[in-house]
Amino acid sequence: MLYIVGVGRSGSTLLERMLGAVDGSVNAGELNAIFSRVATQDQRCGCGEPFSLCPFWTEVGEHAFGGWSDVTRRMAHLQPRVVRHRHVLRMLTGATASFQRELDEYVDVHERLYRSVAAVSGAEVVVDASKSTAQLFALRRIEGLDLRVVNLVRDSRGVANSWGKTGIRKPQSTDGDMMGTYSAQRVAVLWTALQLESSLLGAAAPYAARVRYEDLVSRPRPTLEQALRSVGLPPAPGDLDHVGERSVTLGPSHGVAGSRTRFTAGQVDLRVDDAWRSALPTGARAVVTAVTLPQLLRYGYVGPGSRTAPARTA
Ligand SMILES: [Zn+2]
Repeated sequence: MLYIVGVGRSGSTLLERMLGAVDGSVNAGELNAIFSRVATQDQRCGCGEPFSLCPFWTEVGEHAFGGWSDVTRRMAHLQPRVVRHRHVLRMLTGATASFQRELDEYVDVHERLYRSVAAVSGAEVVVDASKSTAQLFALRRIEGLDLRVVNLVRDSRGVANSWGKTGIRKPQSTDGDMMGTYSAQRVAVLWTALQLESSLLGAAAPYAARVRYEDLVSRPRPTLEQALRSVGLPPAPGDLDHVGERSVTLGPSHGVAGSRTRFTAGQVDLRVDDAWRSALPTGARAVVTAVTLPQLLRYGYVGPGSRTAPARTA
């Protein structure tokens, strides 16, 4: 299991699909949404079909649970109780017997889910772009699951700008739902908390990598190659043939949830979305920069020796 942890709107769907296109791997989407949103709302799969009609997920559901309906109902009840941010501490420090039982059940369902995704796809590596640290804490309890972690980080000012946009339609929705928005201050706090947690998790994981979104889109091949090496899955010759200098070629996939990149196919030109440099209001930019400064320095986004992406050529 290759698990992507990061803040939303950081390019995780793109990273997930680039990793899923490596020989022997499959990208499954944001699996922490499969019960809560994808199955309950019958959202569209990456293949374009509604979840209930997708042949891949139908087979996975049969293989893992004898069908989706019972387990989806049960998880709709269980997931909000088990995987909440404030429960991370409980998962770490021990729990009440009733919480422990629910956590065990949650973990068991996910183990069956992952094993079935691997069995039905025939892949050795399942890429999960769930992003959440709370979900990652829970997954670590699956014995015998070889879990490797990629922390995807994007300049906090870019993330804040993206979350401030209004009027964006949800890509999987069939009824024209709009994406939510967050204030710059809230994004700054969430971004900082998530990066601190993922640093802790990365330090605890036997294999972990950090990928900067800006490097992924400006130097995709060396960035992916280095990430795969860091997680102990060095690419064989030809494994990254789908990745060009500034583009990537994506085939069909059955990934669920995530951004509109989910439905893109063929050759995709990559370029850094740094619209925040002109679009993010000065006040919001000052707040986000101040709150996230220690990590912006650490990841080389500001300060001496900061590595900014090369200028766009086209
Ligand atoms: Zn599908």
